[in-house]
Amino acid sequence: MTHVLVVEDEPSLRQLLTNNLTFEGYLVTAVDDGGPALAAHSANRADLIVLDLMLPTMDGYQVLKQLREHQDPVPILMLTARGAEADRIQGLSLGADDYLVKPFSVLELLARIKAILRRTRPLDRPNVLKSGPFRFDLPALEVIREGKTLDLTPREFRLVEILITHPGRTHSRLELLNLAWDPDARPTPRTVDVHIANLRKKLGEEEGRPWIATVGGEGYRWIAPVEPDT
Ligand code: CA
Repeated sequence: MTHVLVVEDEPSLRQLLTNNLTFEGYLVTAVDDGGPALAAHSANRADLIVLDLMLPTMDGYQVLKQLREHQDPVPILMLTARGAEADRIQGLSLGADDYLVKPFSVLELLARIKAILRRTRPLDRPNVLKSGPFRFDLPALEVIREGKTLDLTPREFRLVEILITHPGRTHSRLELLNLAWDPDARPTPRTVDVHIANLRKKLGEEEGRPWIATVGGEGYRWIAPVEPDT
């Protein structure tokens, strides 16, 4: 069951969101402030957070900041006040995945949540995937381009595996470090850049663009759609 954490201090809106999300089949936890939101999330991880920005004691920006500083990739849909464009820009730059401006329709909220989950959720038990000219045989640790197996190091394979199994999602260097390196290895974010650069060379380019895009100067993302190879 997909667990959604709703963080909204306005009781009627919180109730409305809870009722609708529950009706749609989500497991819902609802809280009214930033502190309880972080506590609820660490006690029982949410798959997505609907986060109001204006909260009584700890606002949505602080919640966002804390989560992203701890490399928590949980998808976040922010709720912002009408006309507050600066809020949206700040929220997105802090790592929110999308936003809705109040007042919004519940149907739109549900559609956005579905879209974010589709975009950010890892594919179920991937086995062999294809994307562009590539086939990724995950159990065999092989990347095949036009019938030819690429000569990747295990670390390069792990990096590309992380990116293609979360298509559309940007991974920060620190996230990649945590996912692909042993903590004892004490790599630096620069290490990630070096491995990504080598990987890009081996993968080649698509119309002059690398398959792995640099996003916002701080993260990496696989640019093409990924699907199971049937
Ligand atoms: Ca509020």
